[in-house]
Amino acid sequence: MSELSPILRDVFGFDAFRPGQGEVVEAVARGEDVLAILPTGAGKSLCYQLPALAREGLTVVISPLIALMRDQVRALRTAGVAAGALTSANTEEETEEVFAALDAGTLKLLYLAPERLATAGTERLLRRAGVSLIAVDEAHCVSQWGHDFRPDYLRIGELRDALRDVQIAAFTATADADTRDEIAARLFGTRTPTVFVQGFDRPNLTLAFQPKNKPRDQLLAFARARKGRSGIIYAGSRNKTEVLAQALRAEGISALHYHAGMEPDARREAEQRFQIEDGLVVCATIAFGMGVDKPDIRYVLHADLPKSIEAYYQEIGRAGRDGDPAETLTLFGPDDIRIRRAQIEEGLAPPDRKQADHARLNDLLALAEAPECRRKTLLAYFGETFEPPCGNCDLCHDTPEQFDATEAVRKALSTIYRTEER
Ligand code: ADP
Ligand code: MG
Repeated sequence: MSELSPILRDVFGFDAFRPGQGEVVEAVARGEDVLAILPTGAGKSLCYQLPALAREGLTVVISPLIALMRDQVRALRTAGVAAGALTSANTEEETEEVFAALDAGTLKLLYLAPERLATAGTERLLRRAGVSLIAVDEAHCVSQWGHDFRPDYLRIGELRDALRDVQIAAFTATADADTRDEIAARLFGTRTPTVFVQGFDRPNLTLAFQPKNKPRDQLLAFARARKGRSGIIYAGSRNKTEVLAQALRAEGISALHYHAGMEPDARREAEQRFQIEDGLVVCATIAFGMGVDKPDIRYVLHADLPKSIEAYYQEIGRAGRDGDPAETLTLFGPDDIRIRRAQIEEGLAPPDRKQADHARLNDLLALAEAPECRRKTLLAYFGETFEPPCGNCDLCHDTPEQFDATEAVRKALSTIYRTEER
């Protein structure tokens, strides 16, 4: 669509779409229901922001993180876009301003915290506002079985019905086939979205697993050899994040801990330091992540085994978003497996769900003990075939000579296919 490129250039300041981005933007701008599964860093925000400007009416954006919403609104306003947010972090004046803009019909993008969907009056407000598109960011939050589940996301379906089947565009970086179906069913109801899936390979990420032998030594040796680089070390418990950060500092490595037991202010401060300081290592639980948008994270080390390939992939995916080489290492041992199994059993999920969780853990163990190329095993899990050797995992000693990261990135990003399935 010819009117899209000038907006891309003039409003967002980009010369070209990222691979795959243009197709999604066009489909959304045409008014199609879309479910787009694009890796982290692919530029999903633009896939709803740009169509919002190209179309009549208001685009409502549902997104799980208030800080990110506020960031996006600030950036859009700086670019001259009429955007606003309704979240619990609003000042009274901000809220008044949004209401006034809604009344005047001048607002193009309204970011809405999911909690707002539960508020009486939101539906009435939006019915009056002339909504033409609901964009759902981090759409996997609607999946009841994922670790990012947000109950309020389940209300999006009600809003869709209340707004007389308004167009929906949903975005996520992680969704296996089951989750994809769940998202489609919960968000689109009886409608069938156009699904875009982009290649999952991240050729610039080195993949490695090691059985725990002397885990503390293994971990410290890894971090020591990469002193001065930004990294995330994921650990299985809050206490462990503190102990590890301490141990790293004792080695002269600048390190912080991060977990959900910390005060909100301390968490924010840690996030900000990580964002701006070079060479800082954050030892964290999985609470650290969804809001992290640092392009030059050079490694992600799992000090303990994650619970599934989805979790693993999402966490390692935070490394190397700038496309430069980045490393990942996952340590695992018999205790990890025992602890994970116990967590599943102690959970409140129904039996069939527990069984599925055990199976997901088994899939990750199969990756940890893969006989050949980890990339092949990892991508096979996501339904992609890959011809080893990848030359960039601990099992492919057999580095292909022609390996060229830039070329590989380009190729990976262009393996986009489009299906009408759900
Ligand atoms: P995602 O949500 O898919 O992880 P974001 O929407 O956060 O990705 O975008 C990641 C980064 O890419 C942002 O800094 C964004 O400004 C940038 N970006 C998005 N689209 C383009 C483009 N067409 N050209 C250059 N940079 C882009
Ligand atoms: Mg995003």
